[in-house]
Amino acid sequence: MRTLTGRPSGRPVLFPALSLALALLASMTVGPDAPRAYVLEGKPAPGRLITYHNAAPQHARAVREAVEAWNTSGALVEFVAVPRADAELVIRTGSLVDGGSTSLLHRSTSSGEELAPRPGDAEIELPGWSAEEARRRRPEATLVAAHELGHVLGLGHEDGGCALMNSAILNAAPSRCSPPGAGEYRCRLLERDDVRGAVALYGGSVALRRGSSFCDLYPPVDPPTGLSIAFDPMSSSRIRLEWRNATAERLASVVVATSTRGCPTSATSAGSTTLDAASGARQAAGFVLELGEVCYAIWSRDTDGRLSDVPATVRFDPPDLPLPPSTPSVTFASSSPLGPRGTSLRWRNPISATLRSVVIERTTGGCPAAPPRRPRPWQELPADSGVLQEFTDFRFDLERAGGYCYALWAKDRFGRLSPPAIVQSTLGAGGPARAPHHAGDRGQQERRS
Ligand SMILES: [Zn+2]
Repeated sequence: MRTLTGRPSGRPVLFPALSLALALLASMTVGPDAPRAYVLEGKPAPGRLITYHNAAPQHARAVREAVEAWNTSGALVEFVAVPRADAELVIRTGSLVDGGSTSLLHRSTSSGEELAPRPGDAEIELPGWSAEEARRRRPEATLVAAHELGHVLGLGHEDGGCALMNSAILNAAPSRCSPPGAGEYRCRLLERDDVRGAVALYGGSVALRRGSSFCDLYPPVDPPTGLSIAFDPMSSSRIRLEWRNATAERLASVVVATSTRGCPTSATSAGSTTLDAASGARQAAGFVLELGEVCYAIWSRDTDGRLSDVPATVRFDPPDLPLPPSTPSVTFASSSPLGPRGTSLRWRNPISATLRSVVIERTTGGCPAAPPRRPRPWQELPADSGVLQEFTDFRFDLERAGGYCYALWAKDRFGRLSPPAIVQSTLGAGGPARAPHHAGDRGQQERRS
């Protein structure tokens, strides 16, 4: 009989040591040719079938999962649930506040004669937790139940490596196994060594559960909902994201990431921002405007630091580029009432709430290919949306009158330029002429001239 006594929470569950007799039996079982870590202590249950009854309803799921682990382990033995009156093994709770204990009776006589199993021959005691505590500590109860079932199968304690049959449970894992991380539990109950022991007793072949040793304790928190962008192009150089947090007790924060190349796929990218978040609350945050197409992604993060499976995303399209000035024309202004001779440049500004200025460049012998790098005062004029505007160029040179080409760009408050509008002076020495045209319109211009 093995009995575990209570322990304060957080301390290891210690399973008592083997008796000397059982240890001797184990040493006889281990062959010299194959080093085996598992320890056998006692005879296998006869018939490769162990009937059981679970009389601890708060541990129903833990027992079911522990039974399932052994029944699918590859060892040729099976636990089968039956009514209590028929059960060789009864699982119950008692005064234990931690860990478990197993007692095996009548499996063989003192002379080693094998006896047929009888109801009540074996007993497992699990902790006498309330339903709520059993739900909260189910991973631990499952480990204990699976460990005790190992004893019922005939396995002893083994502390040479990671095994369910380690003699203690420490940090929600057998003492020689890696403990689970935050928000995880050790869902892989049986290690290779445990199953090899069971196979040695019952035959079969080891069929280990595949995949990670760990599973998530809780499903991840949902991403935020209703993510939208508020932006005032007239007055602001910041955008404002608004959303509603997921309703989840475990929500701790949200992580915001941005990308200009598609939507962010990782919350850990450089420049991501973590903000405290309250469950179900509406939330907002401001960000510096990026001129370009930007995708914002927001993940929920739970109290264990795990992220929602997917983020909420929203794309931000910056305001359209300004349109170029329209209907540019250039006129000989020798009769200007202002006195000096010049060229009069006229155009209509584009209709745009974010228009700030018009940038002008002038060249001879071809048209400007680019705006002035450092505009002189006359080359960048304040501009209002949609109005007709005029600029008189007093630097007019009669000798070169026919060779002037002007380009005009609309510029918005974010410093972005429109495509240019181009107009070429066709003023001959004889007098003014009008020859307006737009960028890309030069073929027509040439035909007309
Ligand atoms: Zn034990």
